[in-house]
Amino acid sequence: MADTQTAYELRLLFQEPGCPVCAFGQRVSSRYVDSLFYESVNDPAVRARLRASLGLCYEHAWLMIEARLSDALGQAILYRDLLQTLLERLPSETEIPDERAARRLGEALTPEAACPACESRAQAEERALQALARSLERREYLADFERSDGLCLPHLRALLQQETLGRKALAAVLAHQRRRLSGLEAELAEFIRKNDYRFQGEKMGAEGNAYQRAAGLLTGRRRPASKKELGLRS
Ligand SMILES: [Zn+2]
Ligand SMILES: [Zn+2]
Repeated sequence: MADTQTAYELRLLFQEPGCPVCAFGQRVSSRYVDSLFYESVNDPAVRARLRASLGLCYEHAWLMIEARLSDALGQAILYRDLLQTLLERLPSETEIPDERAARRLGEALTPEAACPACESRAQAEERALQALARSLERREYLADFERSDGLCLPHLRALLQQETLGRKALAAVLAHQRRRLSGLEAELAEFIRKNDYRFQGEKMGAEGNAYQRAAGLLTGRRRPASKKELGLRS
């Protein structure tokens, strides 16, 4: 059932720009952060979990702030709690640590658990890859995938590790990825040509942001900037 739901949600993301597995992970982890602040910021277990990771990682902390995944009050409550945690771990003003104590302090100031939003994203991506490997066996599903931007390189590699991926589906995926790569390569060539002073009168077309799409293809889908882009209510 969970697999069917994932396959369904993923299929809708084939129509969005960029890698659909990235998009799925971004959506699920944002929903997680959203609900964390909406209902659980005062839950002692949630607080303890966030203390263990010393909050969210760089990427998710700024995503939370910039895409307004939580209101200012929720964040103030969380960060006050984390600053108190840090203050408890720092030595008092009169205590000057020796070298060994400095190393121990360094350890005490290191998160003991991963960012929970990163964990949520990694689990969601794994679910998406499993659902994708199975669903690509179905012809209509594959046809929809072939209208997508294709997978980023990290997720293509991860899909190749899925044991349930059949040979036919694999061949179709690789053909699609090759088409996307060579299409993008041609767009980059066109972009470079139009930057030549002899052709500068020619208007830039869709190839104007081909280098950004190429970066996304190699590293992963661009990070979303708004709740709307994340499919969340605003
Ligand atoms: Zn991806
Ligand atoms: Zn994170």
